[in-house]
Amino acid sequence: ILVLSCIPGRTNLCSNHSVTTPIDLSPDIRSSLDSLDLEGYISFNDVHNASKDFGNRYQLPPLAILHPRSVSDISTMVRRIVHLGSTSNLTVAARGHGHSLQGQALAHQGVVINMESLRSPDIKIHKGKQPYVDVSGGESWINILRETLKYGISPKSWTDYLHLTVGGTLSNAGISGQAFKYGPQINNVCQLEIVTGKGEVMTCSEKQNSELFYSVLGGLGQFGIITRARIALGPAPHMVKWIRVLYSDFSAFSRDQEHLITKKNGFDYVEGFVTVNRTDLLDNWRSSFSPNDSIGASQFKSEGKTLYCLEIVKYFNTEEVNSVPQETEKLLSELSYIPSTLFSSEVPYIEFLDRVHIAEIKLRAKGLWEVPHPWLNLLIPKSSIFEFATEVFNNILTSNNNGPILIYPVNQSKWNKHTSLITPDEDIFYLVAFLPSAVPNPNSGTSNLEYLLRQNQRVLNFCSATNINVKQYLPHYETQREWRSHFGNRWETFAKRKHTYDPLAILAPGHRIFQKAT
Ligand code: FAD
Repeated sequence: ILVLSCIPGRTNLCSNHSVTTPIDLSPDIRSSLDSLDLEGYISFNDVHNASKDFGNRYQLPPLAILHPRSVSDISTMVRRIVHLGSTSNLTVAARGHGHSLQGQALAHQGVVINMESLRSPDIKIHKGKQPYVDVSGGESWINILRETLKYGISPKSWTDYLHLTVGGTLSNAGISGQAFKYGPQINNVCQLEIVTGKGEVMTCSEKQNSELFYSVLGGLGQFGIITRARIALGPAPHMVKWIRVLYSDFSAFSRDQEHLITKKNGFDYVEGFVTVNRTDLLDNWRSSFSPNDSIGASQFKSEGKTLYCLEIVKYFNTEEVNSVPQETEKLLSELSYIPSTLFSSEVPYIEFLDRVHIAEIKLRAKGLWEVPHPWLNLLIPKSSIFEFATEVFNNILTSNNNGPILIYPVNQSKWNKHTSLITPDEDIFYLVAFLPSAVPNPNSGTSNLEYLLRQNQRVLNFCSATNINVKQYLPHYETQREWRSHFGNRWETFAKRKHTYDPLAILAPGHRIFQKAT
């Protein structure tokens, strides 16, 4: 029987203060785990890093960390926890790189599986008409990119940041500017190997154990641990033409974005972001981009304005270098951006895809990476995006100095509806991502975390008051009512699948959807 509620003993923090309530686990349980016959090893010390995540708002130490060397290590561990049954509170969380935001990859006083130590299979590339790559569930996307590029091929759908793991993004969706064309990453998977919540090792695909396959994709880690994935590949370009243009009118901006995602033979990547009252925006771009109209760009003032930046990319190979300017000019001529704000650059494909890592290096050097991240990712139906943008970008937000706000539409016709991912029920919907960092004020020592959390809540309240059928991406909810409402009429299926593949509800407790049966 699966019960929805908060997990007992969990520290529920609304800020970055941590007060943990210890759970009493008998020494027998510890020795039961310690006695397992593993190729890797289990550690009861050094659990600190596995007790928090990128969101940096929860501190929930596990009892132990499993560093698996093989699939069998993971299956052995899960079977032992199943065997201990209700005599223990133990749960299991697979951890990729812990880039979750609200403790989704944590297992308070349970076992965290450090998926990165599962090194097998090595990255195995299969060329041919429909190329693919077999990788471990703990593999980073950046490593897959580097390896596949050696053969002139690569995955087709990405996230903006590549230092995430295959198991982590496939448990969510994996969305970026290519998703309008190829769907999210979960649409580009041919096969998975899973350790279910019963400890069984199962291979699944569209044709084999398809219910498990679709349950796991976008399934928030609830149904099994992804130990291997087969990812579809396509030709990789050598270079990209990377373009930014600004709009002051939201309608014109969104009309052009929607035009581009429905156009055949258009751009290969379409994203966008909002800037609210930024000073010297275009000057800041000059370090990486060149203006088309240098004088016009230097006269353009961004402060005091809400502006919308369309970010687009055209892939090309070095031998096509001469035809790219004409092609992009033709595409740009169909758009109605502010002409003096056209900036562009040409960079290698890998440099473009790995762009957020450059920002990470800079932030880490300033000690600004490991701060709380009260991020909010929303999927907004096209029919409500104008109403949403008008209120949120003009009235709720007064600046975006705390971090970027992404906004771009995707085309649901390219997305597979069988996965566990929940999206608004319209052909086109927008991803709107508020990505602030709560940075401590050096003078007062206080942080703006509470302010940013209140701002997120105001956005959510607005959606609820105006009945916008918003869905959270990377969802986080506190109550049963909220989770049921998130899943809507797909809740029963989700809960039934949980009962089939993880009947004791031991997997991925950090989402707080189900509580382990005791
Ligand atoms: P973790 O945070 O470690 O895990 C995420 C969830 O998946 C947890 O519930 C965990 O238990 C489960 N899990 C992990 N591994 C496995 C596995 N092998 N099998 C089963 N379950 C598993 N997302 C996008 O879609 N698009 C973006 O552009 C994007 N950009 C980002 C940029 C940054 C800087 C950051 C920090 C995150 C970004 N994300 C983006 C979010 C990212 O997809 C999630 O954080 C995701 O959780 C992947 O992170 P991870 O691999 O570290 O997984």
